[in-house]
Amino acid sequence: MLIDVSELLTKPIGEERNLEIKEKIDAEDIIFLSPISGNVTLMGTDAGVLATFSIRAKIKLVCARCLDEFEKAVNLNFSQEYIENSKDEAECRISTKGEIDITESIRQEILLEIGVGELCRKDCKGLCPECGVNWNHKKCKHFKKR
Ligand SMILES: [Zn+2]
Ligand SMILES: [Zn+2]
Repeated sequence: MLIDVSELLTKPIGEERNLEIKEKIDAEDIIFLSPISGNVTLMGTDAGVLATFSIRAKIKLVCARCLDEFEKAVNLNFSQEYIENSKDEAECRISTKGEIDITESIRQEILLEIGVGELCRKDCKGLCPECGVNWNHKKCKHFKKR
């Protein structure tokens, strides 16, 4: 998603704009079950624009213990500065057209949020190591209460 910040760049530092976000994002490594929604506040800084996000989305994950798919709601509050006239590849930049691309920032933030080893629920019982039955759904003869 591209946001045109060229108008804001002509304003004094500290000037703010608030935008609503409702955007379907496609990412190879995240399965979204809903569009991203929320809002972003853009503020002019001496280097460019500081974007403060407050967004939410539903994503699909695979449980690290039982391998079932489950839905997770993520709520993110984070800030990202976009730099004007930057030559540094590693920085988030404002394009020469005065646009910022917020999709990559959101994707990175969600990846940090979900991390590894997410479980479908806190007390997920996992798979039977003997026969592979999913103990959340069914108890096989190997199941004993721990
Ligand atoms: Zn599980
Ligand atoms: Zn079993």
